[in-house]
Formats: sequence, structure tokens, C-alpha cells
Amino acid sequence: MRPSVLFSLFSSIETIPGIGPKNLKLLQKLCGNTIVSLLFHLPLMILDRTKLPFITTKITVLKHEKPYSKKQPYKIHCKTDKNFLDIIFFNYKKNYLVNQLPEGTSHYISGQISTFSGHLQMTHPDYIVEEKNKNLIPLIEPVYPLTQGITNKMMQKYIKEALKYIPTLPEWLDRDFLKQQKWISFKESLMKAHTPLCNEDISPLSPSRMRLAYDELLANQLALALVRQKMRKAKGIAFVNDNTLTQKLLNILPFSLTNAQKRSYKEIKEDMSAPYRMMRLLQGDVGSGKTIVGFLAMLNAVESGYQACLMAPTDILARQHEASLRKWCEQLNLSIVLLTGREKGEKRKKILNQILSGETQIIVGTHALFQENVNFHKLGFIIIDEQHRFGVEQRLALSQKGELVDMLVMTATPIPRTLALTYYGDMDISKIDEKPPTRKPIDTRVLPISKMEDTFSRLHNAIDTGSQIYWVCPLIEETEKSDMANATKRFEILNKFFPQQVALIHGKMKGPEKDAIMQDFINKKIKILVATTVIEVGVDVPSANIMIIEQAERFGLSQLHQLRGRVGRGDKQSTCLLLYKSPLSHTSKKRLEIMRRTEDGFIIAEEDLKLRGAGDILGTRQSGLLSFKLANLEFHSSLLSIARDDVKLILNQDPSLSSSRGEALRILLYLFNKDAEIKTIHSG
Ligand code: ADP
Ligand code: MG
Repeated sequence: MRPSVLFSLFSSIETIPGIGPKNLKLLQKLCGNTIVSLLFHLPLMILDRTKLPFITTKITVLKHEKPYSKKQPYKIHCKTDKNFLDIIFFNYKKNYLVNQLPEGTSHYISGQISTFSGHLQMTHPDYIVEEKNKNLIPLIEPVYPLTQGITNKMMQKYIKEALKYIPTLPEWLDRDFLKQQKWISFKESLMKAHTPLCNEDISPLSPSRMRLAYDELLANQLALALVRQKMRKAKGIAFVNDNTLTQKLLNILPFSLTNAQKRSYKEIKEDMSAPYRMMRLLQGDVGSGKTIVGFLAMLNAVESGYQACLMAPTDILARQHEASLRKWCEQLNLSIVLLTGREKGEKRKKILNQILSGETQIIVGTHALFQENVNFHKLGFIIIDEQHRFGVEQRLALSQKGELVDMLVMTATPIPRTLALTYYGDMDISKIDEKPPTRKPIDTRVLPISKMEDTFSRLHNAIDTGSQIYWVCPLIEETEKSDMANATKRFEILNKFFPQQVALIHGKMKGPEKDAIMQDFINKKIKILVATTVIEVGVDVPSANIMIIEQAERFGLSQLHQLRGRVGRGDKQSTCLLLYKSPLSHTSKKRLEIMRRTEDGFIIAEEDLKLRGAGDILGTRQSGLLSFKLANLEFHSSLLSIARDDVKLILNQDPSLSSSRGEALRILLYLFNKDAEIKTIHSG
């Protein structure tokens, strides 16, 4: 339960005076529902009322110039001590102006200055105060990210109120570290972040901003480490066997493992034979051969007397995995089943029975495997494939289903180190950083779409020599429907040039229909597969060696990389054509150039990170899984490794967070909504 000292910060922003129902909705959307979420909404810059185009000055009212009609502005002629200045009002109440600014009186005003036919003028001053109140005009104001309907002035008012809710909290940072960094307390830092006095105060590198960023990163790292600690301490299965089955597989494989595959499997095997629960990430670029490593691990579990299951993110992938594993299973005399939402009725019953009785050792499926009423005979090992949209909380939930189950997550998303630390910090990582030697480089070309038909004759030749082609249609952002419309149009055109050889596949199709088409493609009945991005992840058809992506400029780099990774899998030279629609912007040109230049997923991911930001790379923007509010990794990544070391030390000395610093750190965790992770302490 959240400690009572945080109650005020976690109360609803409704309690702030002046926030009505309409603004409440807008604010909730902009920054969240609680006082603390409002306070974590930091200003972007400052407005300096002493610098042009702003001025703050004393004026004396000379004369009111009343307009002839309501349409004309109301003008008040004034003088400052050096100049003449007109104040202009468009929407005004005359009496109000006459009363507030009588002729002959002096005031202080502040606002934006401009000139109009040689006259200095100020339209709608931000402030008009009596002389004696001149100190009420803030010379420096924070400027907040806003939304339609919420003005900066409103935001300032709300934040000013919200600042009153910050309690004094115990210090969770190490005293010496705090002193060495010359940081102030959390409360003071948050206050300071909202009351900047100069540009330095607003910089991400200012002491107050650094402190807040550090707090957020520390909470993130500590939460991940707690989950990891729980997993490590959790008793797990020690898989022991004499490697007959895995050896048998290695003997029948038509290739030998790369060194990176061998090393990764060794790491996994070691984890699996230890008596604690494994939580490991297997990271490897597209085509690096993760599946076979995962399958070896499954065999390791099976041979030790357990069931192993592989969970894929889509039906197509689950089916494909099942088909390729089935080949090996048959030779190894193992039983394998497929279970997705589409296995229904009698067939489903039979499969569920096979799983429950233990007759089947290898189970492949989608997340239906865990959502529905599936009972295992003796589940020991789970692989989650390509599931980079899983957050730590979901991993936690999933692992709690099977008590002792070891878990391996396979991802093709090349994650830059900083991101890996913040996102997968609860897991151990194995990396396949080498491609099978049979892989040939993919010849990537960038062409304007106007050259499309020129390529048709070459496609004819390619098809004659046994090539197959993926044709990916542009991503239209508005709706999935328009994606489909696009693909359908392209399909019709291609069908004229290549009758009987083209098929269309998209996300709205029914499962069996998709399967049939994929099967036709695999069997080479179809030569050109026109697709929306449904084929993005995992599809493996080695004879397909040409990838054409239309309006490639619309795709993210990582996505292009995934798509391109669908070819280059067979023994033939592969080609990727990136067709763009002119004119290309400078950045788009640069991005496509990166694709042409390199096939290295890490370089591409780093560039993508620079261009798009973290949330997009991991596909977590919508789900809000990885969004720091106070930290900005562009500036604060050095703090991340300090936080990581800090956490190691903390948990070494006080694994249950029960010292006085530990207690304070619990408050930090609650402050950043790490409630689920805190629970692992109690139950661990
Ligand atoms: P990914 O890492 O993208 O999931 P896959 O596991 O689908 O890659 O492997 C891609 C292809 O490479 C598969 O057809 C697989 O059989 C093959 N492959 C895997 N390892 C090797 C290897 N060491 N040598 C040659 N081919 C391999
Ligand atoms: Mg794969």
C-alpha cells in the first residue's frame, strides 16, 4: 500500500481550486490525473519579460481613443519615460478600461511589443498593475507544454497550487553522492524546476533537473532489479539430462551453429541447469538464427521431463514456427501441437487433452495459450518470440502463471544499450551478434516510384529464374482500411502484368485465408506476394529473394530493416528496392541512404533512435511502457549507469529495503508508480 506521506501527491487534480470539469479532462489527457503527474509536467523554456519582444515598463495614460465601431480596436495612448506607446484591445469592456486606466494615472504593464506605422504598441498586455504592485509581475515565467484550451497562465496557476501539495520526504539518495553532485532535495528540486529564474535553470543539465532525472532513473533501475532479484531468488527447475536429444538435433541439422549461436545456447543451458528461475532475453538481428537456439532450449527442457512452449505474436508466425519445428520433431520422435484462437471445437478439445495429459511435449501458439483455459501437464519452459511489446509488468504476470517456469524472450529489435538497460534491465541478455555464413549481403537500391514499371521486365526475368517477390504497400497512417485499399490497387495493377502469379495478403483477412496464401507462396504457386505490413515479423520463406517497399519514406527505419530481413535467407543473391515518392525531404533522403548503406541492425536502430525517439523503436509509444517524464536519455544517459551501480550497492546491502534508506527508497518507488515491483519484495 502506498505510504500515507504520499497521499496528497496522489490525490486527484480535481482538488486544485479553479479546475472545472472541462479543464480537468484536458489536463488529464495532457499530463495525468494526479497532483504528482501534474508536477512532473515540467516547463520547456522560460519567458523573459525583460527581453524583447517582451517589455515590462511603467506607463502614464495620456488619452483613450474610442473606436467608431465595435469592429475597431480600442486604443489607449500612453507614454513611458522614453517613448510613446499605444495599448490596443480587441475584445474589451469599455467601462472596465475607463475605470482601470483613467487618463493621467500611472501603471506597470508587461507584454509583447510591436510597431505599427512607426508607433510602439502593445496588444492585450499580459499584466496591468498599479504602481505599488509592480512586484507582482513575474519577470521570468516558465512556459509549459500545453494543449488547446489550457493556456500557459492557467497552467502556471494550477502548478503553483500543486506545488503546495509536496510533502517533505525522507532523502533516498546517498548523502555523500548528493553532496558531491551539489544537488538539493527532491522537494526543492521540483519547486525549482517550476520556478526557473534564468535559462540555466531550465536546462536538462541544471542541478535540479539532473536530480529529478536521476530519481526517475533510479526508480526505474531499482524496480527492474527487484523483479530480477525475485526471479533469481525464486526457486526454479534445474533441468538435468545427458544431452542426447539436443545432440541428435545438432547431428541432423544441415548446417552447423555459428559461434554466436553456440555461445547463446551455452548461456541459456547454464541458466536452465541452475536451480533458480531463468529470465533471459535472446537478442539477435533478423535472420541471425534465433529459432534454432530457442528450439535447442526447448529440447533441453523436454529431455529433462518437462513440456516446453513457444508463444508467437501472430497466427501466421505461430503456424510457421509450428511447421518448421514439426520437421525436426518428426525426426526426433517428439509430439508437437499448435494452439491459437483458431483451433476450435473437437480439434481444440483434442489438443487441450494432449497438453493436459502430457502426451505432447512441444506446444506452439499465440497468447491464446495463456489467456484461455489451457492446463499443462508439466510446463517447464516458455519462449516468447518477437514480443518486444511486452513490458516488465506483463512478464511478471506471465511468469506467475506457471510457478517455476523458466522464460526466454526472443527479440529481433536491436536495442541500443541505454534502452536495453531501462527496458530489459530485469533480464539477462544473450546476443547473437553474427549471421550464418551462408547469408549474402542484400543489394539495396533507392528509386523513385516513377521508375516502377521499368522494373517489371526485370521482375519477369527474375521470376523465370525461380525468384519470388514480396511487394509491401505503403503505410497509410489514418486507418487500416486505407492500407488495404492501397494494397488492393497495387495488386490489381500487378495482376495485369503478371497474371496468375500474384496474391494479396492483409491483416483484415480471415486466418485460414491467410494461411492458404502463405502456403501457396511457400509452394511457389504464387510468385509475387502483395502485402500490407502483416509480413513484417518473422516470416521465413528462403526462396523469396526480392523485397519491394513502396513509399519507403513513410516507414520507420527499424521497420524497413525488419521488412528487408524477410529476404536474403536463401542461397540466391537478394535485392531490396526502396521506392519513394518525390519530392523527398532532406531527412527522408538521409534515412533511405542509411538503409542503402548498412544492414547492421544496431547502426540502424541508433539512427532511428536519433530520428524518432525511444517509444517508437520499441513500439511502446501507445502503451506508454517506456516513457520517462523527468529524464531525457539524450542528456541523462550517463546518470543511468550511475543509477544502475547505485542499485547494485543498495540491494547488496539491503535486499529487502528495510534500512532507513530502504524505507525512503520505497517511497521513491511509489512516487514513480512501481507498485507492482514493490510487491515482489514482500512475497519474495
Ligand atoms: P531469426 O533470428 O530472424 O528468427 P531464424 O531463426 O528464422 O532467424 O533463421 C533464419 C534462417 O536461417 C532459417 O531458415 C534457419 O534455418 C537458418 N539458419 C539458422 N542458423 C543457421 C546457421 N548457423 N547456418 C545456416 N543457416 C542457419
Ligand atoms: Mg524469428
